[in-house]
Amino acid sequence: MPIVRIALDVPLSTLFDYLVGADIAVETGQRVLVPFGRKQLVGIVMELSEDSDLATDRIKSIVRVLEDVPPLPAELLTLLRFCSEYYHHPLGMTVMSALPARLRAQEVVTIKQESSYLLSERGRMLDLEEFPKRRQVQRRILQALHEGPASETKLRVLSSSVSANLKVLLEEGWVECSVVPELAPEAHVFNDVHVLSEAQQRAVDAVAAARDYRCFLLHGITGSGKTEVYVHLMQQVLHRGGQVLLLVPEINLTPQLEQYFHDRFPDTELASLHSGLSDGERVKKWLRAQSGRARIVLGTRLAVFTPLPRLGLILVDEEHDASFKQQDGLRYSARDVAIFRANQRGVPIVLGSATPSLESYHNAQSGRYQLLKLAQRATEQAQLPQVRCLNIANTPLQDGLSPAMLSALELRLQRKEQSLVFINRRGYAPVLMCTACGWLSGCTKCAGKLVLHLKDRRLRCHHCGHQERVPHACPGCGNTDLQPVGIGTQRVEEALRTHFPAARILRVDRDSTRNKGAWSVMRKQIHDEEVDILVGTQILAKGHDFPNLTLVGVLNPDGALYSADFRASEKLFAQLAQVAGRAGRADKPGEVLVQTAFPDHPLFRALRAHDFDTWAQILLAERQSADFPPFAYQVLLSAEGRQEQEVYTFLQQARGQALQLAMPVDVYSVLPSALPKRANHFRAQLLVQSDTRKALQTFLRVWKPLLDGLPAQKLRWSLDIDPLEF
Ligand code: ADP
Ligand code: ZN
Ligand code: ZN
Repeated sequence: MPIVRIALDVPLSTLFDYLVGADIAVETGQRVLVPFGRKQLVGIVMELSEDSDLATDRIKSIVRVLEDVPPLPAELLTLLRFCSEYYHHPLGMTVMSALPARLRAQEVVTIKQESSYLLSERGRMLDLEEFPKRRQVQRRILQALHEGPASETKLRVLSSSVSANLKVLLEEGWVECSVVPELAPEAHVFNDVHVLSEAQQRAVDAVAAARDYRCFLLHGITGSGKTEVYVHLMQQVLHRGGQVLLLVPEINLTPQLEQYFHDRFPDTELASLHSGLSDGERVKKWLRAQSGRARIVLGTRLAVFTPLPRLGLILVDEEHDASFKQQDGLRYSARDVAIFRANQRGVPIVLGSATPSLESYHNAQSGRYQLLKLAQRATEQAQLPQVRCLNIANTPLQDGLSPAMLSALELRLQRKEQSLVFINRRGYAPVLMCTACGWLSGCTKCAGKLVLHLKDRRLRCHHCGHQERVPHACPGCGNTDLQPVGIGTQRVEEALRTHFPAARILRVDRDSTRNKGAWSVMRKQIHDEEVDILVGTQILAKGHDFPNLTLVGVLNPDGALYSADFRASEKLFAQLAQVAGRAGRADKPGEVLVQTAFPDHPLFRALRAHDFDTWAQILLAERQSADFPPFAYQVLLSAEGRQEQEVYTFLQQARGQALQLAMPVDVYSVLPSALPKRANHFRAQLLVQSDTRKALQTFLRVWKPLLDGLPAQKLRWSLDIDPLEF
């Protein structure tokens, strides 16, 4: 009896067996509709089999095969199996979470197939001169089709009334319609605008020489021309008929990048997959990639699961960026999955960054990855900015700004150059305090503080979204003198407006860019030099190129130096190097001023010297002596629930079982999470680590089933393999 094993979106680690009628043909990777309990679910056929462990009379039959889209390729199913095993996430949920929403839904997927128009026999015989002159649009259409078949979308540039006119031409028999899709041209136009520098050429040659899997770390300072290296590598793969996958961090940059690659490869089909797409657009692009037509796939982390039959190269830009890690559900690292994928397919992968993650850097040092360096900026005039620290240990600050920072800003205003003031905290101030009794504005549902947002006079929790009006008096003692403590973007913006009344100041943070399209309007304002001073968070740090920006001021970075998160200083350096890279991109030299009470800290020394390598060595030595990643492999078990006691009991039991297994792993103590309470849920965690990935995985395969057996009805718990956040 033919049996199919189906992946379903249910929290069980097994596949589900179903019968298939003899008259139905099924293949692995197909979408099927099956009965499940009282419902019907959509699933993916993972395996075909002749028998089942279940008694035949207990196996239900599939309802039907959805033949609307081609089956998922076996290679993708293998990749998803790997993810399920490595991240210890149920296979069915893993498979379904990788698919576009439309492929998870029960409805049949219909993609409007664009028909293509061509001249009929009669149309080809026609002498255009004889065609009535007043039927202008129709003449233009005929003229265009004379060059070759075209879709309606393409013809639409001719006139807004193309649709109606095409209809007339069809009716009169000048034109025919064909649903056979036009084939993507195989000749690729490549706009080669730069002669590569020697270092760029060396990088391109090294990757091009790799005919099999090989992982490269492209370590290039900001502005060194990493993108240009990607473009040249892409060109080679496209030329051979391959597809390229380019993964980028989750930020607002995707549309700009899309435009950029489109300009460089104007006739190459590109699919860009990011969070702004509608479900319909997403599935359409996914299918274009699966058919091999979209040759460049550009996307954020989820794009790593796009089927790519002609995949020839994977590029991961800003590989250190934390947004490659999914923080819930299937907690995968798109960078690591991409490496597995390149290995599976036998193609090279390039990880690019100005500040590589210590994991990748360590792998490059040990020779597992091949290091490619771009140590100079690509254009000779564009010098690296001068970085200086402003020691604020004994300096009174005005709303977070030192006198030296203010005069540096003043100077840029006089020179009509732009400045960027960077502070990684939105809102007016991180907390409101009572000057009489010391009361602090805390969130009633979380362990965190409520952030003061003065624009709408509200206190907001950035963790759970709770908000309330700013109180007129202290809820503790009735005192009416409540003071904001610390600084946020709104406060700095306000202070700068008072200080420089004539300056045009723009605040860029999550609050000011919330509306769709807001950020692209702002970017235009900045480019058009309608802004003098930018105040913003990390949104501004990444990848933007503002030629007239010559000063970057960094306020308040010191917190990260003494954070409990062992990755905080690694992240801070990356962020500061990135934001510093915004200064002086063109012909004007840039300056970076960092306000700190610890100018002698090795982080700032390295930043001033633009010396990532020394900094990385210091961090690696620290990590090694503390036995932290990349010298250890970790898994974090987190639990949360309304009853604190239940959370801790669960984790203590989990810990007890881990210890009993007596395997070569270190089991730490149960600890409260960095945010011990969120939205009325108590949160705690247990860290387990090992010297090797293999030992950790062996342990997890035994421990996970034990965890599944623990009583935890009222809790939510999860395993995070290679966690980035604690
Ligand atoms: P990165 O991605 O490393 O920050 P980009 O690729 O954005 O750097 O390059 C920085 C600038 O240098 C861009 O304006 C780019 O057009 C220019 N550029 C890159 N390579 C070259 C080259 N070989 N010759 C001249 N200009 C270049
Ligand atoms: Zn008080
Ligand atoms: Zn809260």
